[in-house]
Amino acid sequence: MTTGKYKELIKERTRETLQRWAGQPEVMEKEIYRFLHNLKGTSGTVGLQAVEAFSANALLYFSEDHDRSWTEAEWGDYLYPLLGLFDEPERKGALPDSENALSPGRIEPQYEILIIDDDVELVAYLREALERSTYYVSIALSASRGLKLFYENKPDLILLDIMLPDRSGIDVLHQIIGKAKKERIPILIISGETSREVQKHAYSLGVMDYVQKPVDTDLFLALIKNRFELKREWQESIIVDELTGAFNRKYFNQTMKQLISDYKRTGRIFSLALLDLDYFKRVNDTYGHLTGDEVLLAFSELVRQSIRTEDTFCRYGGEEFALFMPNTPPEQALLVMERIQECFAAREFRARRDSFHLTFSCGVTGISGAEQDAEALVGEADQALYYSKSNGRNQTTVYAVEIMQGQRDTRLNVIIVDDDPLIRRIVTGNLSLWEPENIGGIRVTSYPDGAQFLNSDWYAPEEKYIILLDGVMPGLDGLEVLEKLRAGYPEADILVVMLTGRNDQRDIIHALQMGADDYVIKPFHLPELLSRIERLAHRFLF
Ligand code: GH3
Ligand code: MG
Ligand code: MG
Repeated sequence: MTTGKYKELIKERTRETLQRWAGQPEVMEKEIYRFLHNLKGTSGTVGLQAVEAFSANALLYFSEDHDRSWTEAEWGDYLYPLLGLFDEPERKGALPDSENALSPGRIEPQYEILIIDDDVELVAYLREALERSTYYVSIALSASRGLKLFYENKPDLILLDIMLPDRSGIDVLHQIIGKAKKERIPILIISGETSREVQKHAYSLGVMDYVQKPVDTDLFLALIKNRFELKREWQESIIVDELTGAFNRKYFNQTMKQLISDYKRTGRIFSLALLDLDYFKRVNDTYGHLTGDEVLLAFSELVRQSIRTEDTFCRYGGEEFALFMPNTPPEQALLVMERIQECFAAREFRARRDSFHLTFSCGVTGISGAEQDAEALVGEADQALYYSKSNGRNQTTVYAVEIMQGQRDTRLNVIIVDDDPLIRRIVTGNLSLWEPENIGGIRVTSYPDGAQFLNSDWYAPEEKYIILLDGVMPGLDGLEVLEKLRAGYPEADILVVMLTGRNDQRDIIHALQMGADDYVIKPFHLPELLSRIERLAHRFLF
């Protein structure tokens, strides 16, 4: 589908609405308000900028809260000029056609920046500026949320405020600086605090920069770019992950390349194993992230002691690891992995006068045939790993086409709740065509309002959901729906993105405080929405 088609649909709907109203003696002001509000959001999204600007302006004359009604003679003056705006030539810089812009799987990897700051206006502003420079931004309005996102999202850079509602930013700094240094995550303070003592203290703790509010946006963006350059150079120069002592992702890529080219030249085979700790999140949740880190180190040490010198053990990301075993067919690799699994499961961990055991799951594949590339191999090992997970964990599976058939069924449910039928159609239409990596299938459903959504039997335990919630809806509004979601369902399986108007800053604050995972401002660009959804979906994958 193309945005051209949506433009037609919007034009049609506008004409129909005005026609219908013309046939009525009067129209309620609320109804006009809602119509313009929706039109503003939708038209901007599909690139009808003249219509967007017009409706934004017309909205100033109508209110959602007034009970008055309007006759055609009255509303006509305001609204009929609308009809002339649909056929204007597009201005430069309009939204690219969604068909070209939407490129499943081709969304560039972006740096992720975590902002921990409770100054919502500033945060929303910075997010917009940073995202225009193609960074991805996640937001925490409190210290505790910030800590959670630090561990779970693995941001590439952190912007930290000093004055936070629950705890001082300096406290946060104490907690994360050690790990941030090891993982090469620059921390920048942005603060209204101008005391030299505080600044000196922050530097002594290891922050990279101290930026004072108000922020000069141009300088700020230049600084961020500079810091990412520096980070890239660091990353180029290291091959070992400091937290775990395993080789890092970059070294993983090099090794893979080397082994594949050896294989092609000499026929020397190798096996690849992907390892993922089972229920690792529970360790973090029960004993804290520091214990989680210790477990990662202990795990890595155990594996490194159990392998041969020609094997290469890497941290693939988070709590996921990879092991290359040259000259080893998959059947033999299976035995190696099962032996390690046994050792690891027997190991006792201690924390808070408690002791616990852990396991990990594994997927193995071997290179065979001339056509194989790195991506295909990782894909196979990943599918085998997934099989081990869904088959009870603490086991190793060797990839084989037959076992995997019909297995890879992590389905992602995307639900959109929005009273604007066009937004529903645009999002549903595009998402159903989407084939993101590592996700077996997407099921998209939509509801026109909160009550219908909540009353439907949308939920099944164990399934994963991303819910797009319109902020302003008749009946239950988005925030009320969010509240019910957070109160009644497991938070880890349900990610919520609020769709909100540019001027609804208060809604954004509330939404984030109430546990929304992200927000998108209407009018949004489809590619932006999709890349956010893809980002979020990654939280569900191992
Ligand atoms: P399973 O894989 O068995 O399905 O369950 P899980 O609980 O391990 O699932 P998931 O992959 O969703 O969770 C991985 C967690 O690992 C999420 C994140 O909080 C945590 N994690 C990732 N990297 C680190 C890290 O460097 N340190 C700590 N402490 N935790 C980390
Ligand atoms: Mg895991
Ligand atoms: Mg994982």
